[in-house]
Amino acid sequence: MERRTKIVATVGPASSSADVLRRMIDAGMNMARLSLAHGPVEETLERIRLVRAVAEEAGRIIGVLVDLPGPKIRTASFEQEVYLVEGDTVELVQAGPGSTSDWRRIAVDYPGIADHLREGDRVPLGDGGISLFVEQVSGDRAMARVRSGGRLAGRPGVALPPSRFPLESPTPEDLRLLDRVCAADVDAVAISFVRSGADVERVRQASGPDGPMLVAKIETQEAVDALEEVIAVADGVMVARGDLGIRCALEDVPHYQKRIIATGVAYGRPVITATQMLESMLRAPTPTRAEVSDVANAVLDGSSALMLSGETAIGDDPVAAVATMARIVTRAEREFDYQTWGRELGAQQVAEHRGAPVSVRITAAISAAAWRAANDAGAVAIIACTNSGTTARAISRFRPVIPVLGVTPSVRTARQLSVGWGITPIVTHQHGTTNDIVWFAVSAAAESGMVKKGDIVAVLVGSPEEPTPTTDVLRLVTI
Ligand code: PGA
Ligand code: MN
Repeated sequence: MERRTKIVATVGPASSSADVLRRMIDAGMNMARLSLAHGPVEETLERIRLVRAVAEEAGRIIGVLVDLPGPKIRTASFEQEVYLVEGDTVELVQAGPGSTSDWRRIAVDYPGIADHLREGDRVPLGDGGISLFVEQVSGDRAMARVRSGGRLAGRPGVALPPSRFPLESPTPEDLRLLDRVCAADVDAVAISFVRSGADVERVRQASGPDGPMLVAKIETQEAVDALEEVIAVADGVMVARGDLGIRCALEDVPHYQKRIIATGVAYGRPVITATQMLESMLRAPTPTRAEVSDVANAVLDGSSALMLSGETAIGDDPVAAVATMARIVTRAEREFDYQTWGRELGAQQVAEHRGAPVSVRITAAISAAAWRAANDAGAVAIIACTNSGTTARAISRFRPVIPVLGVTPSVRTARQLSVGWGITPIVTHQHGTTNDIVWFAVSAAAESGMVKKGDIVAVLVGSPEEPTPTTDVLRLVTI
């Protein structure tokens, strides 16, 4: 059985060669993630082309996810890596053209920064491990004491108090970048620092009717508080634990993680659990026991996919990070309680979907029936014939123990399904009557080698004759 929980790997300087990418794909990368926060958009577009070329050559379906930077405030670049020592004093000033930061003076990319800071403010830097405490503000500078020290390099983020530094998402810069990445036909776009459903809707409007799949990064307290509203309008969710851990109490993070995953799955949205999953593998050949445990628990929580960030973007051995994650995931899946998950989801949605729109009710009911029938008949796979991917994601919610084959005529849908739990995307023709579509799909499944003569498969398909085609047919087919 193939691994069900997918792996999203961030592509950066350490993984931007065809050779490394090829080996990452072999090791189990399902989706490539590129962040626009760290470099020029041209560099990202070049990397997307490289990922696509390598995937094509390997004959694999690999999705591309691009992260919009959002309103993250950063420091001017540290020319040299510095080590801030606890108890030291540093100056915070406004960054200007060409300014740099060092261990005595940190330039922050925010106009009039000192006017907005107050004595007593806590200012975490980077992923929050390093934090400053503002002791005095005078004129255009703030003096801060290093509360907890550590290493800084590049352009780390600066988390200013949310009450006085409200975040706007998407930013005008995000929308400009969105145009560029939409033109490159990326499969998915992640929106940083979402606070409400309206933030997602703004990006949806800007990206047009054929826009990419939109992944809402849950990394603000506001998004946690408006979780259902955000998830309802997004196509996918990310548990963005890095910034989330700065903006809420650190000890809330594991519990928010469980809640975000459970809600995302119930809505049929892929949920990507992200950040610091194998952090020590930036430099070390093996992860810590705590990291192994975290990865395994994220699988047991029901994540659709797990993400690697710096580990594959700037780490010493991106391929080893992917291979290690794949091994931990495969082992954890042996402990996953598939039957209980499916039964509980079935019961939950019967209660929840009474008042839902007709198409939602039909998809929920038919996918529950497919899960049940596949179980009872001893089917070896569930085939979801899908245009947009919705049907495949609807059945994947039940976390069936057998594979879900997402059979689609759209290459882009197939790439988007690369992040769906337990879904193997297959591209094939899909036209004609319901019978024709079933025939095409079953043939493609047989060709893929995932089913063989004599096997039973459950097939979910729509009636193309209907004015608004929803998935409303379930067949049990003997190959
Ligand atoms: P980032 O998002 O890596 O783009 O900051 C993920 C996170 O905050 O965890
Ligand atoms: Mn973030």
